[in-house]
Formats: sequence, C-alpha cells, structure tokens
Amino acid sequence: MKTILVTGGNRGIGLEICRQLDELGHTVIMGSRDPVKGKEAARSFSNNVIVKQLDVIHEESIRNLFAFVKTDFGKLDVLINNAGIGWVNQGQKNTVLADVKKFIETKSSGARQIFQHIVPILRKTGIVAQREGAVNVSLTNVKLIMETNLYGVWQMIQVFIPLLLNSDHGRIINMSSGRGELKSLSGDLPGYSLSKSSLNVLTIMFSNELKEKGISVNAMCPGWVKTEMGGPYAPRHVSQGADTAVWLATEKEIPTGKFFRDRKEIDW
Ligand code: NAP
Repeated sequence: MKTILVTGGNRGIGLEICRQLDELGHTVIMGSRDPVKGKEAARSFSNNVIVKQLDVIHEESIRNLFAFVKTDFGKLDVLINNAGIGWVNQGQKNTVLADVKKFIETKSSGARQIFQHIVPILRKTGIVAQREGAVNVSLTNVKLIMETNLYGVWQMIQVFIPLLLNSDHGRIINMSSGRGELKSLSGDLPGYSLSKSSLNVLTIMFSNELKEKGISVNAMCPGWVKTEMGGPYAPRHVSQGADTAVWLATEKEIPTGKFFRDRKEIDW
C-alpha cells in the first residue's frame, strides 16, 4: 500500500481522489487549506485519511507538511497536485451561483435557459469569470492564477522530491486541463489556460530531469466535471474526473512525461 498526498483534497475532484484511494486501502494525506473543512469532508472515510493543513502558495505551510510526512512516513510514494483555481474570486461565484440556481430551479421548468441568460450578467459583476480574452485580461489576476496553478505545484515538487526519492517508484501527477492543450488555446480564460499549458511544460521538464532518478511525472485532464469550479452543468461526475488520477497513482507500470485523459495518452 502506498502513501499518497493529494493537494486541494477537501472538495471536488481532490476529495473524490482521496475517497477512491482510501477505499483501495492506501494511506492518504489530504492537503486542505482549512483542515476543519477537510476533516468534515473526510468524515465518512476510513481512518486511512490524514487531514493536514496545506496552502500551496505558502512556503511555510508546504514545509510544515513536508516535516510531518518525513517524520511519520520517511517517504512519499505519490504526490497528486490537484489544487487549482479557475479564476480570481472563484469563491464568491460558488455561493451566488448556487443561490441563483436553486431559486431558478424551484420557479421554472426552463431553468437551464434562464441560467444561461443570467450567467453573462453575473460575469459583468466579476462574480463569474469574465470572458475578457488575452487582450483585456487583468495581468494581476493572471499572476494570481499562475501563483496557485503553476508556482504552487512547482514548489510542492521541489520540496517533496527528497521524500519521493525515498519511495521505490515515486510518482507525481499534475492535474491539468483541456484548457491547457495547445490546439485548443484561444483568448478564453487566458490566465487559467496559460497556467495549465505551463503546467504541462513543467510536467515535461520535471519528467526529463527526474527520469534517471526513478520518479515518473505525468499530467492529466479530468474532463469537464461537476464541481464548484466546473459548475452545475458539467457532464461528468467527480468519480469520472478522479479515475485517471487514481489509475496513475496505483497502476503497476506507468510511463513518464505524458498527458492523459480517461487513462489514454492525449496530445499536449
Ligand atoms: P474545486 O471544486 O474548485 O476545488 C479546488 C480545490 O483546490 C479546493 O479544495 C480548494 O481549496 C483547493 N485550492 C485552491 N487554491 C489552493 C491553494 N492555494 N492551496 C491549497 N488548496 C487550494 O475544483 P475541481 O473542479 O475539483 O478542480 C480540481 C483540479 O482539476 C484543478 O486543478 C482544476 O484546474 C482541474 N480541472 C477541473 C475541471 C472541472 O471541470 N472541474 C476541468 C479540468 C481541470 P479551498 O476549498 O480551500 O478553496
């Protein structure tokens, strides 16, 4: 059984990854910015899940978790870099959107149409990500997204490498997105797209650098998944979104330096 760290494990796809790995009997360390929320989310899990405070943009938080894993386990078999943000102020969107959706669905049978009408209005308020394009996007916001989705992952990998090296076959799994695929890049969600295509580049760099040391590094896209980030009309359940991450973490032999969706390699 493996020792596996999942960042952003308290909700969404990360929580489901923790749940599936826990069910398989692995020792799961759930990184959660707010450990109270993480413990609440993991209440129905078995005792294998260990919830620890982790904010991937705070070095001290990362180093505290490193010290814990080093002391208690002496190694890390798999690091799943799942934590991510879609846009700045994503949290506000979640609350407002949930309220609006609930309201509409109790009032109308054509909820979807009305919802689609309201979203552009919410975009103007900044509560929902604005479709501003690379031309007009705020670079301050782009940098904030990069901080979490790229530099946060980079620092996690740098700090945890010594423990991954202590594993027989250390693995790093980076939660990327179809938004980062080179062929699909447009001006839409430019900060997020840039962060995920950069994460793919980071995956290739680390994979080449760590290959000789026996650590595999891969990226994956979960598809469009119903979570706070994916929204209520995403077609996929979290179990589908988590599946490839669990497979990459547990499959006996996996390659390195690849990009996957639904357990199949896809183009960068
Ligand atoms: P989500 O429901 O919004 O959950 C995001 C998770 O990341 C939360 O646990 C959040 O913690 C955590 N997080 C954000 N910033 C963090 C930080 N600085 N430090 C630590 N944790 C942080 O999103 P999701 O849909 O599950 O997405 C998970 C991953 O899949 C992301 O990397 C996302 O880009 C990727 N993805 C999702 C979709 C989709 O359709 N949902 C599609 C493609 C890729 P808090 O609860 O504290 O905010």
